[in-house]
Amino acid sequence: RGKKMVERVKDLMDKPERIRNIGICAHIDHGKTTLSDNLLGGSGMISMDLAGKQLFMDFDEEEQARGITINAANVSMVHEVNGEEYLINLIDTPGHVDFGGDVTRAMRAVDGAVVVVDAVEGTMPQTETVLRQALRENVRPILFINKVDRLINELKIEKKEMPVRLGKVIDHVNKLIRNMSPENYEKQNLKLDAAKGNVCFGSALYKWAVSVPSMKNTGIGFNEVYDYCQAGNMKELSQKSPLHAVLLDAVVHYLPTPLEAQKHRIPVIWKGDKDSKVGKNLMSCNPNEEIVFMVTKILTDPHAGEVAVGRLFAGTLQRGQELYISGTAATDRVQSVAITMGAERMEVERIPAGNIAAVTGLRNAIVGSTGSTVRDMTPFEAIKHVSEPVMTVAVEAKNMKDLPKLVEALRQVAKEDPTVKVDINEETGEHLISGMGELHLEVVTKSRITRDRGIEVITSPPIVVYRETIGQFAGPIEGKSPNKHNRFYITVEPMPQPIFDAIKNGDFSMNMQEMDRRKVLESLGMDKDVAKGVTHVYGTNMLIDMTKGIQYLKETMELIIEGMEEALKNGPLAREPAQGILIKLMDVKLHEDAVHRGPAQVIPAMRSAVQGAVLSAQPTLLEPVQKVFVSVPQVHMGSAVREIQGRRGTILDMKSEGDLSIIEGSAPVAELFGFAGDIRGATEGRAMWNTEFLGFFPLPQNLQNQIVIDIRKRKGLKAELPKPSDFLE
Ligand code: GDP
Repeated sequence: RGKKMVERVKDLMDKPERIRNIGICAHIDHGKTTLSDNLLGGSGMISMDLAGKQLFMDFDEEEQARGITINAANVSMVHEVNGEEYLINLIDTPGHVDFGGDVTRAMRAVDGAVVVVDAVEGTMPQTETVLRQALRENVRPILFINKVDRLINELKIEKKEMPVRLGKVIDHVNKLIRNMSPENYEKQNLKLDAAKGNVCFGSALYKWAVSVPSMKNTGIGFNEVYDYCQAGNMKELSQKSPLHAVLLDAVVHYLPTPLEAQKHRIPVIWKGDKDSKVGKNLMSCNPNEEIVFMVTKILTDPHAGEVAVGRLFAGTLQRGQELYISGTAATDRVQSVAITMGAERMEVERIPAGNIAAVTGLRNAIVGSTGSTVRDMTPFEAIKHVSEPVMTVAVEAKNMKDLPKLVEALRQVAKEDPTVKVDINEETGEHLISGMGELHLEVVTKSRITRDRGIEVITSPPIVVYRETIGQFAGPIEGKSPNKHNRFYITVEPMPQPIFDAIKNGDFSMNMQEMDRRKVLESLGMDKDVAKGVTHVYGTNMLIDMTKGIQYLKETMELIIEGMEEALKNGPLAREPAQGILIKLMDVKLHEDAVHRGPAQVIPAMRSAVQGAVLSAQPTLLEPVQKVFVSVPQVHMGSAVREIQGRRGTILDMKSEGDLSIIEGSAPVAELFGFAGDIRGATEGRAMWNTEFLGFFPLPQNLQNQIVIDIRKRKGLKAELPKPSDFLE
C-alpha cells in the first residue's frame, strides 16, 4: 500500500492545480492531534482503527509523554473529489505556545490553514495567536468547529440552540480575522460562512463532520447529527458523514492551489523585485526555471544526517544540483530529495515547484535559509516569531570528554530551531542556551541533547533574558579611533513606536526596494531627508547617515556598521541585547590614508560612540513579560488572582462562565518561576493555566539598578553601574 501511495503522490506533484499545502492550528486541547490522525487514517496512511489511538504525527516519544506536539512534522496524502485525486501536504504545527516559533515556520510553507476551535470553549488566546500568524503570512484560513458532540451530550443544549451556538463561534472568528487583517478580509474575501462551505462542524474523536455542502449530499443536517449523538450512535454517523471526506473536500474547494497562493503570498514574504525574472518565476510557481527553496525545518536523522524540509517556490529539485545558500558565501550540493510521510522519508527523483520537499546535502542551510540556483538571490523575509527568547540556562557536559560532542550538538540545535540562541560567556566559558520558556529549554536539553544525542549535561537554573534601550535623545557624541585620526559624531534617540512595530512585524525591511522603504518610513512619520539616509537595520535598531559629501565614507561604512553591531549585540548597560535605538551619523572625520582607517581604528571608534551615547540617553533595562491565562472554579478565583498580583502582576480581564472563572493577567517572567507549584497549592490543584509572550517592558525604577548590578556580577563584569566615560574619553 505504501508504494502505491508514493506513486500516486509522485503523479500529483506535477499538477499544482491538484495540490493543497495546509497546516492545522488550534489552541491546546482543542483537538488538533486527534484531527491530524483522523485525516491520515481516512486517506489510507494508517488504518482507521489505529487513527486516534496511535498518534501518527507525534512520533517523538517525548511529545507523546507530554501529550503535546513539539516537532512540526509533515506528511503527504491523497484525497479524491468527484473522481479526481488531490495531493494534500499537511504540515503539523505544534500545539504548545512555548513553541510559537514552530507555528510561524510551518505557516511559511503552507497556503491554507484549518483552524480548529472547540465548540464548548470557543476561541481561546492561542486561537488568536495562530490565526494572527497565519494571516501575517497571507495564509487563508478555514474553520473546523470540533467537539460538537460535547454540546449535545455534556452541555445538553436543545436542538434549536445548536446552530445559534455554532454561529456565535463563527462570528467570533470572523471578528478576529477582520480586526487582524481588515484589508484582506475584504479583498481576499476571508469571511467564514457556513453557507459557502468553508466552515465544518464535527467531532475529531468520533470521526464525523458536516458542512452545508455535505448536508446537501448526504442529507445529514444538524437535526440528524443531534439525534445520532444523543443516541450515542457515533459509528453510523461517522460512516455516513466521515470527517476526513467532509473536511478535505472543504480544503480542496476553499484553500488555494500553490499557483493562486504564490501570487498573493510572494509580495508579502519576499521583498525582491517582482518584475525581475526570478520575481516572475516565484509569482507563477514556475517549475522550469531557477530553483528557489525556503527551508522551514531542519531535522537531524540518525541515518541521513541533517534533512532540510521546506517549500519549493520555483524550479524543480533534483539530486546533484548546486544551490547558493542565503546569508553564506557557500554553495551546497543536493544529495537527495524526498517527500515525507509521517516519520518516513521516501526518496524521489525530482520535486517540482509548489510542493514541500525534504532535502539532504544542504549543510550550510539553517531554518529560514533560502537555497537557490540564483546567486545573490534576495532571500525571503526573516520568519517573524511572536515570541522571543526570554530565558537562558548554562549547560555543561557531565563528562569532560563529551565537550566536543556538546559543542557540535549545540550548533545543530541552533540550526534546527532558530528561536534557540546559543552563546558562550567569554568571562566564564559557560555554554548558554536561550529559549522561549522553561518547557522549551527543558525540551532542548533533555530531548535534543541528552536523549537524541546521548550527551549527559548539567543544567543551571534558568536565568531571565533582558533587553537594553534608551529613554531620551542624546548627542552629538564623539567616538575617536585609537590613533585619534578618525572621529564619528552620532546622536541616539528612541525609535518611534510605529517604526519599531513595522520592523518587528516585517512591514519594513532592508530587503525592500529602496523607494518602497522610503515610502513606508515616510508614511510612518519619518522626515523625507531622514528616510533617505537609512543605511542599516540591526534587530529593531537603525543607522541613519545624515552626512553629505564625506570622502571615503562609502568604503568605510561596513566597518561603521560592524562597530554599531558590536555595541548593540551586547549593550553597554549589562551586555544584554539592545533594541529600539535610532542612531544618526551626523559627521565623520576620516584619515586620508586607508591604512590609518582600517578595522582596528573604525570599529572601536564607532562602538564606543554608540556605547557612550546609549549610556547618556537614559539607559533603560527591559524585562520580558508574559500573559497568564488561568481558569479555575469560582471558589478559587480570589486565590488565583492573588497569585498573579503577588508577582508584580496585573489583572487584565476576568469573566465567568457557569462555575468557571477565567482570569487574564500579565506578570514578568522573572516572577513566574515556581508559579506552577504555587498556583496548584493555592487552588487545590484545580487551576488550568498557560502563558504567552507579551513583550519587553521597562523595569520599575526602584529595581533597575539592582538588577543591572546583579546581571553584571553574574557575567563577571565590574559590579557597578557603567557611565558614559567608561567608553568615551
Ligand atoms: P491538541 O492539543 O489540540 O492536539 O488536542 P488533542 O487532539 O490531543 O485533544 C485533546 C483532548 O480532547 C483529547 O482528550 C481528545 O480525546 C479530546 N477530543 C478531541 N476531539 C474531540 C471531540 O471531537 N469530542 C470530544 N468529546 N473530545 C475530543
